[in-house]
Amino acid sequence: MSETESSCSSHSQVITCKAVVCWGIGEAGKVEEIQVEPPKASEVRVKMLYASLCHTDILISKGHPIPLFPRVLGHEGVGVVGKKEEI
Ligand SMILES: [Zn+2]
Repeated sequence: MSETESSCSSHSQVITCKAVVCWGIGEAGKVEEIQVEPPKASEVRVKMLYASLCHTDILISKGHPIPLFPRVLGHEGVGVVGKKEEI
């Protein structure tokens, strides 16, 4: 997942990001734009530089352990936690 250039906004706003989204069991992930809410009190916003799919993403796309869709895949990656104004 990476933040798009046009959506570099403040830490307190909804931002538009690219993500790989799986919409159902066995469906291939599609790169789509998603809206991400501002982080809550115990959360931080991370600007992802690289992300990858792992075996857990494959299992999730097959509906294991719980078939909850849509799902954003690619939870393993490298990112930067920046100042509130930068991310
Ligand atoms: Zn993983």
